[in-house]
Amino acid sequence: AKAQGKNRLVAYADGMAQAARRRAELQQDLALAVPEDQLVVHYQPTVRVADGRTTGFEALVRWNHPARGMVPPAEFIPLAEETGIITEIGRWVLRQSVAQGAAWSAATGTPLRMAVNLSPRQLLDDDVVADVEAALRDSGFPAGQLTLEVTEGVLVRDVDRAVARLEALRALGVRIAIDDFGTGFSGLSYLRNLPADIIKIDRSFVGDLPTGRSASTLISSIVELARTLGLEVIAEGVETEEQRRTLEELRCGSAQGYLFARPEPAHQAGAHLATGGIP
Ligand code: C2E
Ligand code: CA
Ligand code: CA
Ligand code: CA
Repeated sequence: AKAQGKNRLVAYADGMAQAARRRAELQQDLALAVPEDQLVVHYQPTVRVADGRTTGFEALVRWNHPARGMVPPAEFIPLAEETGIITEIGRWVLRQSVAQGAAWSAATGTPLRMAVNLSPRQLLDDDVVADVEAALRDSGFPAGQLTLEVTEGVLVRDVDRAVARLEALRALGVRIAIDDFGTGFSGLSYLRNLPADIIKIDRSFVGDLPTGRSASTLISSIVELARTLGLEVIAEGVETEEQRRTLEELRCGSAQGYLFARPEPAHQAGAHLATGGIP
């Protein structure tokens, strides 16, 4: 038994070492992702809960690693955040997404929204406001149709700087969404002090619908408070028609999720525009 325990320990240590090696390698390889054109943006529609009509898209980056294939953002974004290369990646995603938004708007003649994720390090980067302004100018995409999504986590690090940055971005005319809302520390009352336009309800709550009582209580409280504060609410991770119907009953206006569409490359995502546009 003792020998077995030891073997397990060795195997465990091996696994740890292997994981650490993979992280280190991926982190090193990330430097080439932008210059070697290994990133691609997928787009997931945001829809109106009542009728499923597409109002815009969220841009979600993917990394096609030359040797390892697709590496999910949940794995490489944190690594990019550690080294700081996230600012280069984020700038690339932003430019790509607003250019795509401008092309789709032109093709359909209907204004649509584009949402882009901003990591904490990106938000606190001194160049971010100028970067966003330049990306909008170069693409011709209207500031009012761009949403920047930030998580509550960024507010923990340096709340004054984060709030000042969000205000500067809003002054450009872009909208701010608080991503993964409900998972952070902040709680509902905190919302009052945030320069935000949109709340995105985390999919862990949506996944508990329709039976989860605490989830539906929380969602209706968020919707209620959002109405008072004049914020829009988007529910993430809607996978079933039952969840959609429950959200409609809870008066949640917008949603995203596999029920409507998965994130897809631009040439496929564009098909959802047939029912698109800002209502
Ligand atoms: P997020 O911003 O919360 O994005 C939503 C995630 O939920 C996406 O995962 C999306 O594919 C997934 N999702 C959408 N609908 C459903 C559904 O119905 N069911 C389930 N189970 N999942 C659904 P993805 O694309 O793997 O991205 C993971 C996270 O990586 C994102 O979470 C975001 O935090 C980060 N990320 C992705 N792209 C970027 C980027 O360009 N910049 C930054 N800074 N972060 C990014
Ligand atoms: Ca997001
Ligand atoms: Ca989210
Ligand atoms: Ca998330």
